[in-house]
Amino acid sequence: MNRRELLKTSALGLVGASSVLAVSCSKKETTTADEAPKAATETNTDVTYVSESDNVAQSLGYKEDASSVDASVRADKGETKGSEQFCTNCRFYTAEEGADYGKCTLFPGKYVKGQAWCKSWSLKQS
Ligand code: SF4
Repeated sequence: MNRRELLKTSALGLVGASSVLAVSCSKKETTTADEAPKAATETNTDVTYVSESDNVAQSLGYKEDASSVDASVRADKGETKGSEQFCTNCRFYTAEEGADYGKCTLFPGKYVKGQAWCKSWSLKQS
């Protein structure tokens, strides 16, 4: 490879790298939903939270305070006691480290409380 070809290749590499950076930066600006878990708090009005009165929530027995659920309903599953079942250790839950709320695949587009529970709880596999 002569000097001219080397410069041409380097220039193309820079263009490619800057394109990737531009896409990355523009993605960051448009992916606010992905950043929402960090901001998902009880007072954040930009985030939609699951309400216990939602139809799906009612059918699943969703309760924001898992400890308020009767032990006969929040029964032991496998080796996990009912009292140890929360959204935070459910396989359907994802959240940023330290966030009070997170996403549940059963409630697309909304956030559930980490300390909540519903009948579909299933132990998260590590
Ligand atoms: S499926 Fe799991 S994460 Fe979703 S509401 Fe029920 S217990 Fe919480």
